[in-house]
Amino acid sequence: MQRGPRTTTKEKLLQIFEASPDLTLQEYGNRLGVTKERVRQLIACLGLERQRRKHAGQPICPECGGRKSYEAKLCRACWWQSR
Ligand SMILES: [Zn+2]
Repeated sequence: MQRGPRTTTKEKLLQIFEASPDLTLQEYGNRLGVTKERVRQLIACLGLERQRRKHAGQPICPECGGRKSYEAKLCRACWWQSR
């Protein structure tokens, strides 16, 4: 019996996370149909916790409208281009 490629909860979380990194654990859980505790585990497992913190409430790059760090004038991509 043949089975198509299966999307795991982990992969789904990764997709949702890439599209919207600022959701709460509960919101990810609602979308995936798992508990927020499970989401927390998956995020830790995928190494996304750092990224999540990085994104949360971050200021906006004046060049491209992307996220930048607090201390930087531009986001990393624009900063590289401006060198
Ligand atoms: Zn930028």
